[in-house]
Amino acid sequence: MIFDYQNIKKVDREVYDALNKELKRQEENIELIASENYVSKAVLEASGCISTNKYAEGLPHKRYYGGCHNIDIIEDLAIKRVKEIFGCEHANVQPHSGSNANLAAFLAVLKPGDKVLSMDLSQGGHLSHGSKVNISGKWFEFHHYGLDAETERIDYDNVLEIAKKVNPKLIICGASAYPREIDFKKFREIADEVNAILMADIAHIAGLVAANVHMSPVKYCDIVTTTTHKTLRGPRGAIIMCKEKLKKDIDKAVFPGLQGGPLEHIIAAKAICFKEALSDDFKAYAKNIIKNAKVMADTLKKEGFKLVTDGTDNHLILIDLTNMNLTGKEAEKLLDEVKITTNKNTIPNEKLSPMITSGLRIGTAAITTRHMKEEQAKQIALLISDTLQKKRDKEDIKRDVLKLTEKFPVYGVDHE
Ligand SMILES: *Cc1c(COP(=O)(O)O)cnc(C)c1O
Repeated sequence: MIFDYQNIKKVDREVYDALNKELKRQEENIELIASENYVSKAVLEASGCISTNKYAEGLPHKRYYGGCHNIDIIEDLAIKRVKEIFGCEHANVQPHSGSNANLAAFLAVLKPGDKVLSMDLSQGGHLSHGSKVNISGKWFEFHHYGLDAETERIDYDNVLEIAKKVNPKLIICGASAYPREIDFKKFREIADEVNAILMADIAHIAGLVAANVHMSPVKYCDIVTTTTHKTLRGPRGAIIMCKEKLKKDIDKAVFPGLQGGPLEHIIAAKAICFKEALSDDFKAYAKNIIKNAKVMADTLKKEGFKLVTDGTDNHLILIDLTNMNLTGKEAEKLLDEVKITTNKNTIPNEKLSPMITSGLRIGTAAITTRHMKEEQAKQIALLISDTLQKKRDKEDIKRDVLKLTEKFPVYGVDHE
């Protein structure tokens, strides 16, 4: 039984105890971190499976080690399923993480010092898109576009204007905290005007793209990277999709360019996640993620909260707390105390430091996975409002949270 941890218990009591506490936390708390989810038991099993014992440097049927024929079956399945889900020409399923996948993509098409245009981190972009503290920002010349000050949305005319000025070799679209649909076709037009390579990083929205409830970038972009563990609901890891013409460069960049042996147990878990993503259940889940986010956004607005872009098209809501006399850090802590897990986040034109912030990011993927529907999404929004506006006693709210999560078990197993 996967949650027994009986062998861990025998060998390492300290890790065992912490794991049990974490299982309890995951069952009891309302998980609203937009980049998190709960994987299926099958994905969990694969993540801990015996493929972890195998070295398989190289690609299926072209390995640097013997004994890879069973591993090849699994990695072939993972690749085939990615192509079926996203309709891409080529896929590499080996990147260990989203940041790694992005770095591999840069290694494939850029030289140190080359110019890249991406969304600003403080306006919703990602660390690996050229932040000064990240290798991307240290080794390449990144320039950034932000959001329109009025609409808080991407201003495509402004992106084009910056692109013409900068003349980048690569343009990146995709974000970590953008609640609206991204128009990849418009980005293609911009890239074509300045003759740039176009890359989309769909880490957050991959599950929505897989289920066809968000526009797909695959047709328009030369390279598409994504994590597998956010809305796509697979193991912690990433993949890279690309056009046939970049296939060799991408594969060579992942290995031997950046990584050594692939995590074949995680690739097994990815293969299973991709099979699940092709199911009707997954399509219903993706639709419900958006329904739940919309209900939550509407309820929060009725409760007096300001939302960045005044709403959402996807799984994510960014609350602008400036009218609530609360910082993101304070809001995160207040919600933690009632077992609602969120994260502080910068908002467009942020005045505070990234450790404090004026915003709070919430997402609906994890609650949707545990089968919560619009009724529960509304209830959760009210619990958030009660907590942040101090309308009710904390212990009362926490009791409501526990009552709710008990009705919607994640794995439905007992913890000690
Ligand atoms: C989460 C995220 C990543 C990074 O993924 P890691 O697996 O944590 O390295 C990259 N890009 C975007 C847009 C993300 O949201």
